[in-house]
Amino acid sequence: MKTGLLHHVELYVTDLPKSLAFWGWFLEELGYEAFQEWEQGKSWKLEETYIVFVQVEEKYRNKPYHRKQVGLNHLAFHAASKAHVDEMTNRLRAMQVPILYENSYPFSGGRDHYAVYFEDPDRIKVELVAPKTV
Ligand SMILES: [Zn+2]
Repeated sequence: MKTGLLHHVELYVTDLPKSLAFWGWFLEELGYEAFQEWEQGKSWKLEETYIVFVQVEEKYRNKPYHRKQVGLNHLAFHAASKAHVDEMTNRLRAMQVPILYENSYPFSGGRDHYAVYFEDPDRIKVELVAPKTV
């Protein structure tokens, strides 16, 4: 355990089954394992960090997330390699997940930053970044 690393992140989602299908696939591809599950939510854990998805309460459901407003803009994850980023990008395309900044892929984040950016079912931006060296 390293003091200061993220302990967990919790996201409220519009459509829990849809988010769980998407995030379950993505996180398990990155080595996360299912951690907690209950009627309104589920989490996946990798080492000491877990990510939780919770069904938003009905009364807040019609206030959509927008990444350009104040609050979370995106979540970024480490990929194993550039090839891993490419492979995941192809799979995301095949799943018809919206890829952001496609025309500058994989350098949308700059020439030294090999990454894919895409949207989760609530249009939260997600980034998968290759290490500098592989
Ligand atoms: Zn980023």
